[in-house]
Amino acid sequence: MPLLRTDPLKGGEGGVSKVTNLEFIDAVFPRLPEQAYAAVSTKDGDPTKGGYTARRADQATTNLAPTANNYVNCSSFYHGENGSLRALKGQFAACHFLMLDDLGTKVDLDRFKDFDLSWLIETSPSNYQAGIILSEPITDGPVAERLLNGLIDAKLCDAGANQPLTRWARLPVAINGKPAHQTENGAPFQCRLIDWRPEHRYSPEAIVEGLQLKLAPAGRPKKTKVSGKSLIIRSADEGVHTPAPTENSVIAALKDHGLYKTPLGEGKHDITCPWVNEHTDAIDHGTAYFEPDDQYASGGFKCQHSHGDQYRLGELLDFLEMQRSQARNKPLIRVISRRSASNCGCGRKRAGKPWASLSAGRFDRVSIDRPDQRRSVYNTNYSPRPNPRTIHRSDLGEI
Ligand SMILES: [Zn+2]
Repeated sequence: MPLLRTDPLKGGEGGVSKVTNLEFIDAVFPRLPEQAYAAVSTKDGDPTKGGYTARRADQATTNLAPTANNYVNCSSFYHGENGSLRALKGQFAACHFLMLDDLGTKVDLDRFKDFDLSWLIETSPSNYQAGIILSEPITDGPVAERLLNGLIDAKLCDAGANQPLTRWARLPVAINGKPAHQTENGAPFQCRLIDWRPEHRYSPEAIVEGLQLKLAPAGRPKKTKVSGKSLIIRSADEGVHTPAPTENSVIAALKDHGLYKTPLGEGKHDITCPWVNEHTDAIDHGTAYFEPDDQYASGGFKCQHSHGDQYRLGELLDFLEMQRSQARNKPLIRVISRRSASNCGCGRKRAGKPWASLSAGRFDRVSIDRPDQRRSVYNTNYSPRPNPRTIHRSDLGEI
């Protein structure tokens, strides 16, 4: 089915362009969680200036002037303690639609030739924002975040300044007041609703399938006691950490494949070779897996048979369909900063100063939840040292 019922080059004249912002919002938000509200925001002039002030859609839609930049948030929100409605993660009620942006410029429209979007709005010349309405609003924040991050990872949505749960999408009756999109006579670009199919609603599963998204693994890692080396976060910031799973993930995978035999001590394990059929007389003997240690960060694999040089750890991991990062079995650290945005360890004011001190342990990633709602994630190849040492920002490679 073709994506565009109306050729974008010919414009959205006809019924499509007659949808008002109020009708649009009513169709996208047929139901809201109790005590929750859809949020809109309106800005005059250049929308890159200033923040977004959220207003309750049920009270503000008549005030969304067609001569302003008008937005609706992808999520509904509860009132805060002081009675104000703000589009903050902490006030999240439910995610109602997914917004895709930069279609036609950064993202090829052909990518949607087999997927019927719920709407398409031209937001600047030949550049479109699209919406996908959820058949059921997602009230579980982490579930919605996984889906939204899946869109960002698939490059279907800009990573943006706002975090995914509080993303603002353009409403159909509005301008794009960015000076760069002004017409020759200085008038602002008028947004155009090109396609409007609110009956196209999707479950998260259908979206993942239809757009071929790859989602991060579900759920939070189990909280287990750290065994062996102690793990201390001595940060000026408030920190939490998720210890590595107590069972080595390669061993777990070997067990799943029926290849695991017995521990041999000191991190060595007797296993059945995945390529045992290539052994003389298919003898099931003389193959070992080694857990990660200081020398071999990902662990090791050794088969004493003649194909031993051919099959190393990489081949074993390929066989088990695992990544090297999984084989390292390292914990994920999250450091939650409560400092001000300019002083949270990401800003220049503290460049060079320690932002977290971590004792013995190996950490793959550090993710910092910043007070300005953004998240910074770093890769680190931090190796354990005899004494606790301080990690500096310069030790980390940004991913
Ligand atoms: Zn072998």
